[in-house]
Amino acid sequence: MGWLTDWRRSRVLKKHRIDERQWLAATGGFAFLKNYPHEKLKRLVLQFLAEKHFTGAHGFQVTDTIRLSIAAQACLPVLELGLDWYAGWSGIVVYPGDFRVRRSEVDEDGVLHEWDDELAGEAMPGGPVVLSWDAAAHATDINVVIHEFAHKLDMLNGAPNGMPPLHAGMDAAAWHAAFTVAFEGFNDALERGTDTWLDPYAAEHPSEFFAVISESFFEDPAETRRRYPDVYDQLKLFYRQDPA
Ligand SMILES: [Zn+2]
Repeated sequence: MGWLTDWRRSRVLKKHRIDERQWLAATGGFAFLKNYPHEKLKRLVLQFLAEKHFTGAHGFQVTDTIRLSIAAQACLPVLELGLDWYAGWSGIVVYPGDFRVRRSEVDEDGVLHEWDDELAGEAMPGGPVVLSWDAAAHATDINVVIHEFAHKLDMLNGAPNGMPPLHAGMDAAAWHAAFTVAFEGFNDALERGTDTWLDPYAAEHPSEFFAVISESFFEDPAETRRRYPDVYDQLKLFYRQDPA
């Protein structure tokens, strides 16, 4: 059914335009977006908006500006990959602020533990992306939108493990080596109490490291390349972009 999708997407571009003033209102706060091909990003955003469905949680009103702002950042990782990388789900749930999720786990003695996590974002395999607008709107050090959509890419080949499906010609061993060295070095630095450049949350799991360094790849590519040259090279091959 690829032709039908192609036809729908080209029709969206013929019928809709993004007003430049509205685009600036939605994206002006994200200076890094100016480094990317403007018209190409806008075209992808139009198609993204036609295919994804936004819902406000807790009575939150998702305005056109909010939709545009989230879509612009979400489209950046797939700018050269295409929207098919976000296929198979359509929901984006936006909370006004951080939200609570109930977690539970049965320990080795069979005892059920339950607790609440407070989150700024969550991506579910085959399900929606959930975002806190407060966190998404004040993305300075942390970009929750790019973070959650990077998780979506990571989940395409099963449980998130820090390695999305690589393109033909990419070397899984090279990816694994680059990310393992970086992840272990990052954890060592945290244990020594060294100030880390990346959000310490990256140490939680290889999948979190991939999501966090994907944020910095797009937001601060030159510094990402300087600090993590091997990881940068792998991300460049995967995202098919060389923003530095
Ligand atoms: Zn995460």
